[in-house]
Amino acid sequence: MTEAPLALTVGVVAETAPGERRVAMTPETCRKLVAAGAHVRVQHGAGSRAGFADEAYREAGAGLDAADAVLACDVLLCVRPPVPERLLQLREGAAIVGLLAPEADPARADAIRTRGLHAFPLERLPRTTRAQSMDVLSSQAGMAGYKATLLAAQLVPRFFPMLTTAAGTIRPSRVLVIGAGVAGLQAIATARRLGAQVEGFDVRPETREQIESLGARFLDLGVSAAGEGGYARTLTEEERAEQQKRLAAHLKQVDVLICTAAVPGRPAPRIVGADMVAGMKPGSVIVDLAAESGGNCELTRPGETVDVGGVVIAGPVDLASQGALHASEMYARNVFNFVSLFIRDGRLSYDWDDELLARTVWPDRAPVPAPPVPAAQTTGD
Ligand code: NAD
Repeated sequence: MTEAPLALTVGVVAETAPGERRVAMTPETCRKLVAAGAHVRVQHGAGSRAGFADEAYREAGAGLDAADAVLACDVLLCVRPPVPERLLQLREGAAIVGLLAPEADPARADAIRTRGLHAFPLERLPRTTRAQSMDVLSSQAGMAGYKATLLAAQLVPRFFPMLTTAAGTIRPSRVLVIGAGVAGLQAIATARRLGAQVEGFDVRPETREQIESLGARFLDLGVSAAGEGGYARTLTEEERAEQQKRLAAHLKQVDVLICTAAVPGRPAPRIVGADMVAGMKPGSVIVDLAAESGGNCELTRPGETVDVGGVVIAGPVDLASQGALHASEMYARNVFNFVSLFIRDGRLSYDWDDELLARTVWPDRAPVPAPPVPAAQTTGD
C-alpha cells in the first residue's frame, strides 16, 4: 500500500545565540501556516523567552517536540542562524529562512552547501515595495531604534522633558540622532514622545522632511550623499572632514547622542572620533546602534557600556531582542509573508522567476543559460 504524500512540515527550534529571545513563529503565524495546509512542529519552550507559551502553539495547531525531531522538517524558520551541526541535521534540500548571514561563517556556508539547503537569508531580500511586508530589517530596526532611546533615557542623569517644578525649571534634554533610516526615525519619534528637544542628521537630503515631520529639527552639517537605491553612499574624504568639523562643534551642546548610521554591505561609517567625545559634556550619553558592525563612534565597545571621561558610551547588540514579544510578532509576520511565496496548498513550490525568491536564495542561483542561438538557416538558393 502506498501512503499519500504528507503535507510539508514547518519547524521552529529554540534560538541558541546568546541573549537571543525572539522566535521566528508566533501562535498567530502558526495558525496561518496550519490554515495554509502545513504541519507545524515547535521545539518545547521555543517561544517562551518572547512570551509565547507552548500551550498557545498547541492551541494554534502545532505539535510540540524535541529539537532533533523538529529538525526533520521541510522548512525551518529561525531568527539567527543555527549552529552548523544543526544545519547538517536538516534533510537534504530543506528550506531555511532567517537572518542567516551565510558568508559570515565558513562552517555555516559549508553546512548549507553540503545539505543542498534552500537557504533564504532575509537580509538579502530586495527592499522593493512588494517586499515591504516581509522586510525583517525594517521591522527589527524599528524596535532597536525605540529601545535605543529608552536605553539613553535610562543612562542619562537627566529628565528628557522640560519640567516646571517647585524646585525650579528643568530644561529638556538635547538629543541628537545621527542616521535617519528606519531605526533613527523611530529613535527620534520616541525621544520626542518623551519630551526631549530632538535633532536628527542624515546624509540623505530626503530625510530632512521625515525628521521635521516628527517634530524634530534637521541638523544641517553641509553634507549630502544620496547613493544607489535610496541608500547612502560612502562620503568622500572632503565631505567627511566637513561633517566632522561641524559635528564636533555641535556635540559640545548635546546631552544624548544616538548613532544609527549605516551603509549597506560595508562597516558602519566612523563619525564620532575620540576627540569629539572628549569635547562632550560630562554626564552625556552615546548609544551606538551601529556597534555590531564596528560602531559609528570610535570608542564604542560592542555589547558593553563604558565611561570615557564622564561620557557614557553604550554599544548594545541585542536591542531588538530586548523587545522580544513585539519584535517576534513583526518578525514572524514578515517570515510568514515570505514563506507564503513558496508554500502553496501545503506543498513546496518555488517560482524562480519571482525576484524576491531568486534574489534572496543563497548560494546565488546559476544564471539560466541563454537559449542556444539557432544555426544560421541556409536556403540553398
Ligand atoms: P541603513 O540602516 O542602511 O542606514 C541608516 C541610515 O544611516 C540611513 O538613513 C543612511 O542614510 C544613514 N547614513 C549613512 N551614512 C551616514 C553618515 N555618514 N552620516 C549620517 N547618516 C548616514 O538604512 P535603513 O534604515 O535600512 O533604510 C534606509 C533607506 O531605505 C530609507 O530611505 C528607508 O526608507 C529605505 N527603505 C525602503 C524600504 C522599501 O521600500 N521596502 C524598506 C526599508 C527601508
